Amino acid sequence: MAAIPRLAAAATEARGLLYPFGEARPEDGGISEVADGVFWVRMPLPFSLDHINLWVLDGQDHWVIVDTGVQTPDIAGFWRALFAGPLAGKPVGRLIVTHYHPDHIGLAGWLSRKAQVPLETSRGEFLLARTLTLDVAPEPPAEALAFYRAHGWAEPWLERLRASGWGQFGRGVSRLPTGFRRLADGDQLLIGGRCWQVLVGAGHSPEHVCLWNREEGLLLAGDQVLPRITSNVSVYPTEPEANPLADWLASIEKLRQVPDRTLVLPAHNEPFTRLHARLDQLDRDHRLKLARLLDGLAEPRHAAECFGALFGRPIGEGEIQMATGEAVAHLRWLEAAGAAERIEADGRIRFRRAA
Ligand SMILES: [Zn+2]
Repeated sequence: MAAIPRLAAAATEARGLLYPFGEARPEDGGISEVADGVFWVRMPLPFSLDHINLWVLDGQDHWVIVDTGVQTPDIAGFWRALFAGPLAGKPVGRLIVTHYHPDHIGLAGWLSRKAQVPLETSRGEFLLARTLTLDVAPEPPAEALAFYRAHGWAEPWLERLRASGWGQFGRGVSRLPTGFRRLADGDQLLIGGRCWQVLVGAGHSPEHVCLWNREEGLLLAGDQVLPRITSNVSVYPTEPEANPLADWLASIEKLRQVPDRTLVLPAHNEPFTRLHARLDQLDRDHRLKLARLLDGLAEPRHAAECFGALFGRPIGEGEIQMATGEAVAHLRWLEAAGAAERIEADGRIRFRRAA
């Protein structure tokens, strides 16, 4: 077993947050220690986000993997190299996934079979991932097309969606195990003599698992709090009346129980402290978006007419679906709060400021 290098402290400060390791990070497929027995693995991603951070915990006689990377031959190759190199000598004893997105759960089935360990995650994340991998069709279902049409998509956008098929989720995800081991909010996991408490958040995904070590001030945050980018909070055709932004804002409040000085180990960008400053920024950011959006609702608008107010920049063709989901999430929040009301006509849904 090769020694795993410890990242040197080289603190930098940016936008009110402190990055204890500055710009230092493991290379693609590499591993570095960030705290005793806590290792940072960085893997590339084949989409606009260019990397994901995965975590390996030293369980004394075994390793515990937290998140897996998307399923590609390259990333499986990086894992094999880690098992043959820096992680050699101890088996993988536990496999934990924070949430159902392919960059997190992608190789979980493969790793679970390879290591002969169960996949551990929350029930909501497991069931959604299983459902989405099975839901594959040559064309989107009529309800999905109706959802995007209702929220303002023009015919050429719908045509592109039809042509792209349905069920892309499964492409980045290896076959999931039939069963799993459930993690629930408040569970305490003993790993290598350290106690990690399961802290479940929502809004970005249904039951996102974070792991918090209170004593030493460590938080494996997944996508529940990221330092430099904001996590996607969207409404999807699977639950068209959802109000995920309410869940997201409530989760921001819930995370305030974690002390500000905690070292946050996020799934994207770099480890940071000053968690509460980041929670303040995220909360303020969404509330500013809601205020801008409401300003634009003097006249009724559907979600696709709100991109300018919401994002303040042009939305590329490849981003329309995500932008629509985010716009609907913010509109639904305004509606549920009584600030906006919907007007439904001819299969279209528009929102305007409440009288
Ligand atoms: Zn995610």
